[in-house]
Amino acid sequence: SLTQEVSLKSKLKEVFGFSQFRGNQEAIINNIIRGNNTFVIMPTGAGKSLCYQLPALVLDGTAIVISPLIALMKNQVDQLNAFGVNAQFLNSTLSKAEINKVKKETISGEVKLLYVAPESLTKEETIEFLQKAKISFVAIDEAHCISEWGHDFRPEYRKIRGIIDNIGDLPIIALTATATPKVQLDIQKNLQMDDASVFKSSFNRTNLYYEVRPKHNTKKQLIQYVKKHKGKSGIVYCLSRKKVEEIAELLRVNDVKALPYHAGLDASVRMANQDAFLNEDADVIVATIAFGMGIDKPDVRFVIHYDTPKSIEGYYQETGRGGRDGLEGNCLMFYSYEDIVKLEKFNKDKPVTERDNSKLLLQEMASYADSAVCRRKQLLHYFGETYDKDCQFCDNCLHPRERFEAQDEVLLA
Ligand code: ADP
Ligand code: MG
Repeated sequence: SLTQEVSLKSKLKEVFGFSQFRGNQEAIINNIIRGNNTFVIMPTGAGKSLCYQLPALVLDGTAIVISPLIALMKNQVDQLNAFGVNAQFLNSTLSKAEINKVKKETISGEVKLLYVAPESLTKEETIEFLQKAKISFVAIDEAHCISEWGHDFRPEYRKIRGIIDNIGDLPIIALTATATPKVQLDIQKNLQMDDASVFKSSFNRTNLYYEVRPKHNTKKQLIQYVKKHKGKSGIVYCLSRKKVEEIAELLRVNDVKALPYHAGLDASVRMANQDAFLNEDADVIVATIAFGMGIDKPDVRFVIHYDTPKSIEGYYQETGRGGRDGLEGNCLMFYSYEDIVKLEKFNKDKPVTERDNSKLLLQEMASYADSAVCRRKQLLHYFGETYDKDCQFCDNCLHPRERFEAQDEVLLA
């Protein structure tokens, strides 16, 4: 109704400070308010969080948000608290006393959003507690974690449906930025959401410039590139922890404020480095793919893949962290066939089916990197979208000759 429209919009302004909904946000929010199952597929940076945060504020009770990473939960809860919203999380970082406090405030109805890690959710005591609370709906963020065909498979995610059934008859909203049809199907099947309204938006990130360069004098190229963007925020992805340390050091000795981030670092160091990046005490974060899921830094101006990524999907997600504010975002990937061969070797220990899948993903990555076709056309095609024109905003569209010369150079080297 019109009054509802007005009140949603005023909530948007009052709590989040935005004057307009973006894309499908309003339709999605209305769908969840009506109690319907909802499946949202929107690219990174499109504004998926708001699709469950806003209805959580409008509806009675507490919305459960299932989210795969502690850093991600903390990020959102901090942000919501800063907006004056009572949001809390339940995960392994809390003490017994803190957990009891969260539970008490949830049962009394003060908490509007309760973020829960999947491993906390599976605990008997958590389920018993949630049965006592008034739950408005369940949001499953980063829902591609359910699928083995995705790039971030989490076995605990496959238990979510059963647990929700134990808590009550609740509407579900599942959200992901992973658009491959295979993953989508898997998510809907596992969550038994065949009846869900599906909201899928285009994956074209028009403000991202895509570029691939051969891995040749890579360190020198990297330093030049980062210096060209001096003082700007950027992410450099590397394949190994060792490489992360090495490149962070390389940048530091070249006068760039860079910090490392990988799973081998102490949790406190990791958190501190992430915060330094978010607060702009550091300009560049050099990281393994452990960094970035759900991290909300709108003004990341460049994303560099120092090593060739494992899949187009992962690459697209990682580049998607650039230019979330809609302004310039530069995506540079260094490519070498040796990287592909190296990655293929890592697959040896995997079960056969998984190995075949990984190999296919790598081949797709290699052919993307090698191709002279418009990058955007290739990426969108990969996600099942048709894009007929050439984008005029990628290396293949703007500098076709340079590219070939660079490749010749590699062949001669
Ligand atoms: P996603 O989860 O889809 O990757 P986020 O929910 O993290 O994206 O949102 C990305 C950015 O967009 C955030 O900075 C968020 O505050 C902003 N945003 C979301 N909705 C709106 C809106 N309606 N107007 C302006 N900015 C928005
Ligand atoms: Mg998100």
